[in-house]
Amino acid sequence: MLYLTFDDGPDPRWTPSVLAVLAKHKAHATFFEVGVAARRSPDLVASVRKAGHGVGNHSMTHPSLTKLSAAGVASEISQADKFIGGSACMRPPYGAVNKSVRNQIAAEGKRMVLWDVDTNDWQLPGADVIASRVIEGAKPGAIVLMHDGGGKRSQTIAALDTVLTRLGTAGWRFERLPNC
Ligand SMILES: [Zn+2]
Repeated sequence: MLYLTFDDGPDPRWTPSVLAVLAKHKAHATFFEVGVAARRSPDLVASVRKAGHGVGNHSMTHPSLTKLSAAGVASEISQADKFIGGSACMRPPYGAVNKSVRNQIAAEGKRMVLWDVDTNDWQLPGADVIASRVIEGAKPGAIVLMHDGGGKRSQTIAALDTVLTRLGTAGWRFERLPNC
């Protein structure tokens, strides 16, 4: 089992393609959505959920939470929840956390979810490199970080098809994160 996660969407240009590739392979994933993006595309938020994927909270405006007051962190989380439809999971932008942010995420009733395999797909290293990072990083139960928003994502989408084909053939399954 591998847990694929997609951050920074939903994005009308890329998220539908990610959903289509996942559907083609009967795979499920978890989308850590940004509140402002969800506010712009409520139809996509609904599509992600309807397809059986998990939705996590990735803040309202994608700031580094370590630079905010406790009240600011609480507001980023609770505002995003309104537009993503709520979630039990929270992924802090940039993975930036400190004790105060951890406490605030817990105080908002969220489980913090980081990742095990970072594809660095946002650096656009090429679809083959992104796919190799997932395939080489595959370990039972590993959480893989990719992006369906925040920039050009055609490489990620191509890599996703390769990963699901190759690892699917090798017997891996792809599920949404439990309790998200
Ligand atoms: Zn992000």
